[in-house]
Amino acid sequence: MLDYHLHLWPHGTAASTPTLDELAAYCDTAAAAGVTEIALTEHLFRFVQADAALSGFWDDDPDPRLRDQLAAYWAEHAHADLDRYVEAVLGAKAAGLPVLLGLEVDHYAGRMDKVAAVLEGYPFDVLLGSVHWIGAFGFDQVGDPVVMAEWDRRSVESIWDAYTGALEELAASRVCDVLAHPDLPKVGGRRPAVPDEWYDRMAEAAASSGMAAEVSSAGWRKPAAEAYPAPALLARFHKAGVPVTTASDAHGRPDVAARAADLRVLLADAGYDSLAAYRGRTRRAVAI
Ligand SMILES: [Zn+2]
Ligand SMILES: [Zn+2]
Repeated sequence: MLDYHLHLWPHGTAASTPTLDELAAYCDTAAAAGVTEIALTEHLFRFVQADAALSGFWDDDPDPRLRDQLAAYWAEHAHADLDRYVEAVLGAKAAGLPVLLGLEVDHYAGRMDKVAAVLEGYPFDVLLGSVHWIGAFGFDQVGDPVVMAEWDRRSVESIWDAYTGALEELAASRVCDVLAHPDLPKVGGRRPAVPDEWYDRMAEAAASSGMAAEVSSAGWRKPAAEAYPAPALLARFHKAGVPVTTASDAHGRPDVAARAADLRVLLADAGYDSLAAYRGRTRRAVAI
């Protein structure tokens, strides 16, 4: 098993360069759950390099409440240095730890060329692609009053549709390797009664771009109370020949490799008998 989605810093906490001991502890926790390789995939928006290239992307949104909410969220997060993060992870690799250098890259509408420019020159092993915003609407920040008011204002179907459009643009940009938490809009528990249209489009986007899809236990820790993706979407990925990774999306050591055994059951039920592993952004199949 793999855990290809790990953060070093909980949201709302300051970023510090990880020590070798901290990364070794992540590996130990993973190994105890049968996970033999992990990828560090900190959010791109935690880094000052992203701030320089992408800050203000929310200015196009017509809603001032959403713009202000996102500007504050961004200002709270964008403080770490990407070079030091890369050095720390490469140092752990050089010390023999089974870690990969990755990032969780967000979708920035119309700006994926700027994202690619920020990423250029770094020796990443794997890049996750995530849609976290629709315009300035950070739909997955469940609990934030501005975000929840927007959920009440829009229809669930319109949110899923806009999300899927963003996912399609992200996939077509080919900037990333793995679609993270593919059906993320269910995070707060609001789902379309018939999601088939969006599931079909998500599977097609992954298949046509050559991306893998992530199977993540994080949804079990959210109001959605279900892994990402839902079994019906995972079945579509399998039918479309989309390879998969496994992930916890932990933001600290306690959730590293969370529910790996349950993910194994989901994969077997969907017919998967291998996982996608990466080195230097080149994929190969490995046993589950
Ligand atoms: Zn994410
Ligand atoms: Zn994440």
